[in-house]
Amino acid sequence: MIYKLLIFILSLTLLPACTQKNNEVKDDTLFVYSARKEHLIKPLFEKFTSQTGIQVKYVTDKAGALLQKLKAEDENSPADILMTVDAGNLWKAADSQLFEAANSRVLSKNIPPHLKDSNNLWFGLSVRSRTIIYNSEKVDASNLSTYKDLGSPKWKKRLCLRTAKKVYNQSMVAMFIEQYGIAETEEFLKSWVSNLAAPVFSSDTAIIEAIDAGQCDVGIVNSYYLGRYIKKNSASKVKVFWPNQKSSANKLGVHVNISGAGILKSSKNKKKALALLEWLSSKEAQTQYAQLNYEYPVLSGVPLDAIVSNWGEFKQNTLNMSLAGKNQGQAIKLMDRAGYK
Ligand code: FE
Repeated sequence: MIYKLLIFILSLTLLPACTQKNNEVKDDTLFVYSARKEHLIKPLFEKFTSQTGIQVKYVTDKAGALLQKLKAEDENSPADILMTVDAGNLWKAADSQLFEAANSRVLSKNIPPHLKDSNNLWFGLSVRSRTIIYNSEKVDASNLSTYKDLGSPKWKKRLCLRTAKKVYNQSMVAMFIEQYGIAETEEFLKSWVSNLAAPVFSSDTAIIEAIDAGQCDVGIVNSYYLGRYIKKNSASKVKVFWPNQKSSANKLGVHVNISGAGILKSSKNKKKALALLEWLSSKEAQTQYAQLNYEYPVLSGVPLDAIVSNWGEFKQNTLNMSLAGKNQGQAIKLMDRAGYK
């Protein structure tokens, strides 16, 4: 009984304090749900706060978990911004009506049209290239050309791929569907599968290690994983090749994806949320944002990390990234039909 009384008295004294704190948080602080890891966002948010006085709080989790959380919280969500990797995930959030359009001259100027939603629901903030890598002691780069060509007989038992369950590959195949059509994409995916040197890998880094060790000769990974790998293994034999540089029309260019963000409908702080997105697209933030993870900036004219600039320039495919989400269901079925596990 005494305990119950104590708890009652305590709750009376503590509750007003808690409520007040929550209000303070709502008024002065932005809340970001982030599928990007803490070490990649924290330095940027700190710099933004030091320049604007706007505090930024965040939680990090997997994209799928954050989407579920946002759907469950609905209008009552404390979050202002969802930040995640892969256009497929951003498209899903937009498809679930979670984002509010942000019309901003700054964002339109800084971010190329193919790297953002055409209705301004989400914006790419960094570019990741999903490209071909090879063992430079076993492969003559002049034998490499396109993604599709990795299915040619010369790569028999020499190709390593990551699992079809990873959204990076689902988004890539979704873009191939747009570029090559369903029948041609299915055909060359089958030829990829028949060229595999080993069962599919669970991570891009495992593919890089396997290629460096000579278990396979060619593979497809996001180049930032190779950046991290080279940073630790300067004697690595693994090199980057930029495919589809001479291809025609919409088959032209390296498959790219983005990390990006959108302002949530639930946000009570949309002006400040927009200020953060605009700042993240600025030259200062873009330099740091891309370099922190060996990625590419969305803003042109921004210096690259030394390892990344060493790989040289390349043409990227410029079909709108939202197709990665729109065609994703079809891509998953197609990979299954092609025997790509
Ligand atoms: Fe990744």
